[in-house]
Amino acid sequence: MNNLDTTIIEPGQSLEIPKTYIIRKGDTLYKISIKFGVSISELLESTPTVKDSNLIYPGQIINVPKKNEMISMGNSSEKRIALTFDDGPENIYTPQILEILRQKGVKATFFVVGERAKKYPEQLRQIYREGHVIGNHTWDHPHLPELTDQQFNENIQSTSAEIEKIIGFKPDLFRPPFGEIEDRQIAMLNKQGYRSIMWTADTKDWTGAPAEEIVSRLKQDASPGVIALQHNYHVAGQFETVKALPQIIDELRAQGYEFVTVPTLLGHKK
Ligand SMILES: [Zn+2]
Repeated sequence: MNNLDTTIIEPGQSLEIPKTYIIRKGDTLYKISIKFGVSISELLESTPTVKDSNLIYPGQIINVPKKNEMISMGNSSEKRIALTFDDGPENIYTPQILEILRQKGVKATFFVVGERAKKYPEQLRQIYREGHVIGNHTWDHPHLPELTDQQFNENIQSTSAEIEKIIGFKPDLFRPPFGEIEDRQIAMLNKQGYRSIMWTADTKDWTGAPAEEIVSRLKQDASPGVIALQHNYHVAGQFETVKALPQIIDELRAQGYEFVTVPTLLGHKK
């Protein structure tokens, strides 16, 4: 279930635990389906014994279907971290971040906003040209749970179409704005071939936190397989991601960490 290559587990590693439910007196399939937010047909499908007889009784174990999940961490058997930058591209911070990554020989992942890609195609092209990975972060950064399915799909597709127009292909990674998304929406994304990527470590750089704080927060949260959240866009005021970045790279490298893109982090085979 966890694609482990070894029986040794490490501190900080996240494990997926199979979800089961033991039926109590008075339970009905309807009650259980409400409790877990899944349909009765999904419940039946995931528990063959119930599926065949349609009967449940106290003490019986039922499998709760796995919901469409977000990916918030990579394989933790290697000392690797994925730096991610959200909300660009733009022409102030993006070129500076790219320059630092180039100098340090680090590849990262950028979750871009469609309307900004349209406005700053050259910066998007540069991100791509320099070997970084580009993901879809919606057209205009909406709060996804408020969208209709049609609005949701149009938003995702217009963004990927814009990205494809500029760099020649569509992304297959997606990150929801504010990290908020409905399970139904994750399912739609999966069906369209996207993987939904959250994060393990939030630098909170968007709050205007000073560089020292960004660095220490990430150092504290660093562990093998971590996906770190930063931004390459800021409306106004103090924004010290650029200042923090060289120090983050140098200090974590000194601890033995390697920086990789999200797809590399998620591939559990070398
Ligand atoms: Zn964002």
